[in-house]
Amino acid sequence: MQTKIAVPIAAENPDEAKKQIKAALAADAEMLELRSDYLEDLSVDMVKELVGEMKKAGREKVPVIVTCRDEKQGGARKYPDRLRTEVLAGALHAGAEFVDFEYEKFRFVENQEKLRRAQSQRPSSRLILSAHNFETKFAGIGKLYRSILAVYPAAIPKLVYTANHINDCFEGFDLLHQTSGERVVFCMGEAGLISRIIAKKLGSFFTFASIDDKTATAPGQLTIEQLKNLYRFDSVDVETELFGVIADPVGHSLSPAIHNACFAEKNMNKLYLPLLVKGGQSEFELFLNNVIVRKWLSFRGFSVTIPHKQSALDFVRRKLGFIEPLAEKIGAVNTLLIKEDGRTAGYNTDYAAALDSITSALKVERADLKELLVAVIGAGGVARAIVAGLSDVGAKIKIYNRTIQKAERLAAEFDCEFAGLDELSMPDARCSMLDDAKLVVNCTNIGMHPNVDESPLPEKYLKKDMAVFDTVYNPAETLLLKQARQKKAKTIDGLSMFINQAMAQFRLFTSKDASAKLMRKVVERQLSKETN
Ligand code: NAP
Repeated sequence: MQTKIAVPIAAENPDEAKKQIKAALAADAEMLELRSDYLEDLSVDMVKELVGEMKKAGREKVPVIVTCRDEKQGGARKYPDRLRTEVLAGALHAGAEFVDFEYEKFRFVENQEKLRRAQSQRPSSRLILSAHNFETKFAGIGKLYRSILAVYPAAIPKLVYTANHINDCFEGFDLLHQTSGERVVFCMGEAGLISRIIAKKLGSFFTFASIDDKTATAPGQLTIEQLKNLYRFDSVDVETELFGVIADPVGHSLSPAIHNACFAEKNMNKLYLPLLVKGGQSEFELFLNNVIVRKWLSFRGFSVTIPHKQSALDFVRRKLGFIEPLAEKIGAVNTLLIKEDGRTAGYNTDYAAALDSITSALKVERADLKELLVAVIGAGGVARAIVAGLSDVGAKIKIYNRTIQKAERLAAEFDCEFAGLDELSMPDARCSMLDDAKLVVNCTNIGMHPNVDESPLPEKYLKKDMAVFDTVYNPAETLLLKQARQKKAKTIDGLSMFINQAMAQFRLFTSKDASAKLMRKVVERQLSKETN
């Protein structure tokens, strides 16, 4: 059984429904679900005609589901049970392969008799009995699954619940793993997103995707284009190895797009997911332990970012895994590997990525950075990795930060100088260190989209014999870099560092080199989509 992509047709009237049917088929829908509860002035004849239209448009090859959802379980309009069951019976009569009805309401004799009778007249058709929880997990999902099959053994159970945290998804995954045959289980909400993406790996009968953002019928539903192109739906199977970026927020991460494009280019049976892990250390550890005990999920590696890099280091320490020495010194792990036997390893690809960006732009070796005078602006996570890398090669660093105490702490750890960021912005001030600096690195958010008219450094400090590295990569050319270029200083953009760290992660994940050119192309395409 191959998991199919079902696209809901959710329209107020038949004309609009016909347009959606055409669009869904053009987008390669593998199943069509007519959400008849969205139709105004619903009638049996209206649904029969639309079923005929769907069968014809799909050349009898695209299975049709008809649903008339109860308002209390997420239905768009309030229609009585009597009309809803008549609509479903009519849909079966008109050739729909599946009708979907609420398990809770199926237990009423009148509903059950009508649907059993209609289905027996079309023996090849199937009844989906569904249950929804829009608030939280089901209390006992396994019991619910078994009771549906006890009431109607030929039914396809469909269990859908809201995941309030990514850790809520695992009960649904377990149910899919422990059962077989036709059944549908997935989670709603942003935290449940991965359950829609890995439905095919876990063998769910179908997963929903919408034609576009406007026609989504449930929170967290992806578009068919995202599922197929971004999340490699056609290539996924039970053997697919999983990777992902653990972050909060995660929605705008570019990592799924670049890693999946590189997996696809190399024809690797691997899939990279956005993993929204809310909370602190304990939620982070619970997520990883959930993954490690379920070997059949085959999670192999993670990119780790805000706010979990420190937790990732602590996790590997506690598991007695391998920690790359510089990651230990930086105090942050941004790449986590899980071996098949559950052993863990932690790395930090940020410092090497930054050093490589600097050395390749300056056309020098790391050893040539010894004694180089560097001004680092910022004292957060990225500054930490860059200061650690630069101090490791012997550069002389001064750290400037808005919160001077943070600059002081970082400077003390790596034996650097420090000052407040305001020291640079005083109108008549000249900062002698910056007058002599050969490299300036911006590690703050200043200048990042949408605040593209801001720069962390007054223009007067920029000069010809200086290199300026801005770690901000959206936009690729920040105001700081533009002004530096105009002063004929050498410029290094944040995209090169971003791509270098992703290249290093890809190597750790796969032992193979990704194409930097492809990564840059994907990042630039994503960024232009976001800013337009
Ligand atoms: P972080 O740990 O939150 O640190 C943010 C830093 O920016 C702190 O030093 C903070 O100063 C400073 N800052 C923020 N807003 C400011 C403002 N309005 N005025 C002055 N200072 C401000 O974040 P991070 O992980 O280090 O990321 C920092 C930047 O690095 C991000 O903007 C991102 O674009 C870039 N980055 C690049 C890459 C890459 O691969 N190229 C990777 C990750 C991040 P306080 O200490 O005073 O709060």
